[in-house]
Amino acid sequence: MTFSADFTYESRPVRVVLRSGAAVTATPGEAEHLGLRRLLVVCGSRGEAVARAVADALGDACAGLHAEARMHVPVEDADRAVAVARATGADGVVAVGGGSSIGLGKAIALRTGLPLIAVPSTYSGSEMTPVWGLTEGGVKRTGRDPKVQPRSVVYDPELTVSLPVPLTVTSGINALAHAVEALYAPDTSPLIALMAQDGVRAMGEALPLLAARPDDLDARGRALYGAWLCGACLGATTMGLHHKLCHVLGGTFGLPHADTHTVVLPYALAYNAPAVPGALTVLGRALDADDPARALWDLAGRLGAPRSLAELGLKETDLAEAAVQVAGQPYANPRPVTAEGVREVLQAAYEGRRP
Ligand code: NAD
Repeated sequence: MTFSADFTYESRPVRVVLRSGAAVTATPGEAEHLGLRRLLVVCGSRGEAVARAVADALGDACAGLHAEARMHVPVEDADRAVAVARATGADGVVAVGGGSSIGLGKAIALRTGLPLIAVPSTYSGSEMTPVWGLTEGGVKRTGRDPKVQPRSVVYDPELTVSLPVPLTVTSGINALAHAVEALYAPDTSPLIALMAQDGVRAMGEALPLLAARPDDLDARGRALYGAWLCGACLGATTMGLHHKLCHVLGGTFGLPHADTHTVVLPYALAYNAPAVPGALTVLGRALDADDPARALWDLAGRLGAPRSLAELGLKETDLAEAAVQVAGQPYANPRPVTAEGVREVLQAAYEGRRP
């Protein structure tokens, strides 16, 4: 990418620990570092065993365990979790799990101002952003607030060994999507380009290793390192067409988050490609490929991930409505977003043909 001496970059204070076993061994120290003495641990029902181990490690500093995180943070779940945090007298929150658990932790932080520690178990990247999301009456609202940005992030490769290969792959490609769109965001910068390049390279190298050997702890660590950098790209920039498409497909049509990112990314990148030669150079270097959109499509297929919106259950008759919703809202994108252009991207993603 050619150097642009014209940018603004804000760095937010966050401590990052990446170490095998860190969920249990490092979380108490992170709480202490932040001066926290009564932490509410939140997680989803599937992650309860790990969250309990974290709660046990906190010992007297654990105010309780709330295992009710669900996808997309329904507002009534947030209400209940806030009530539990207040009733237990918590002075901080530890979210253990994927984007859904971290989302519930953020919802508590948003309402109460309590500091949040994140212990991620997927590659979604939410732990590195000040973005929150809440769903009410079937509509997901999102916003940015520095209060919800986790103060400490504890990455533990051991926590991700149980992540099934299909979710490992799609969650990893979800992370790649953050770096891809950060490279052509209106608020990108040379530092973002560095983080995106190394994040994409790390994740791109780790995923094939993990598809072959899901318990490879070195590769798990490398994937988490990639997720960290890609998540930091997401937190520092404004996303474009790809994230808007996925938001509409997930929010209005109920498609699964990481799978949808995986299917859409090659097509959104192919659409923007003519307008973003610098981003393509960085991605080409990181993926060791001449055509990054095709390389991403090939990677997904090689690792057995879904490649079409049809496979994810979208109906062809939904494409027109999705296109109207995506094209109807103004947002930053390097190439003008037309209804016809969006419709073409969606049709190609629906069919799953090589971009
Ligand atoms: P998720 O948290 O819903 O997890 C997906 C599934 O994987 C769940 O069933 C969960 O129980 C299971 N799981 C998680 N970790 C596991 C592990 N280590 N082993 C076995 N199973 C495990 O999904 P996600 O993809 O992590 O996050 C998606 C959500 O996060 C969406 O709601 C999305 O909007 C949000 N998100 C928010 C941001 C942000 O910046 N606010 C960024 C990315 C994603």
